[in-house]
Amino acid sequence: MALLKAESSWAKEWLHLLEDGDPARMSRGRTYARKKNVLEFYVDDFTIHAKVQGSRRKPYNVTITIERFTEEDWNRASELLSPTLIDTMRSHILPREINNLFDEPLVPESNYDVESDCSCHDWARPCKHIAAVYYIFAEYLDLNPFLLLDMRGMHLMSFIRRAEELSTEKIKDLPLEAFWATPSNNDKPTATRSKTDQYKRISPFPWKLEGKKLHALLKPGYETIKELATKHYKKLLEKIKN
Ligand SMILES: [Zn+2]
Repeated sequence: MALLKAESSWAKEWLHLLEDGDPARMSRGRTYARKKNVLEFYVDDFTIHAKVQGSRRKPYNVTITIERFTEEDWNRASELLSPTLIDTMRSHILPREINNLFDEPLVPESNYDVESDCSCHDWARPCKHIAAVYYIFAEYLDLNPFLLLDMRGMHLMSFIRRAEELSTEKIKDLPLEAFWATPSNNDKPTATRSKTDQYKRISPFPWKLEGKKLHALLKPGYETIKELATKHYKKLLEKIKN
């Protein structure tokens, strides 16, 4: 803790917020953080809670909150959360692209969007004790950037679960079986002609590939994919029903 690294982009972005603060106070805050004056630190109930040892015997109580995203924000973000982003987050990386899912960036753009409180008598916000907690939070962000999601109102696993539930809902609506079935189109007199496997709809090449016609080459692959996809889809349907 002594070095106050704050190397990740999330941590740096968070510390940028202190640039609005009074430089002397911010510098004292940094010293407090470095000298381990922050005695207690945890994030709970979307809030940073900390105890900071100042000049008085009794440590000061500090809390910091940022505006929470609404249910609507989370739902929209969950819908946009791609499997690739989920995989990245499961490997303990919070990708910068996550910011594109919300109207506002995860780290507030200004200190005016951060609510902080300290039990000291200083009128300034942030005071040096709050600044010290900012530094400690930045260090924690290096280790666990997902604390930003907690601060914004949702735990990582709940966020992923919501996104997966929504994509399952989407699968339920997909007429996948219909895609693999023989198409029936009663409007067109060519209905009998369309009673063919999908791959036959691709116009065949006028030449042969390694001595074979295109459709002959596609047939075995198509049959395998058709079989696997139908099997997978049925399994998925059963899973959803249970
Ligand atoms: Zn204070």
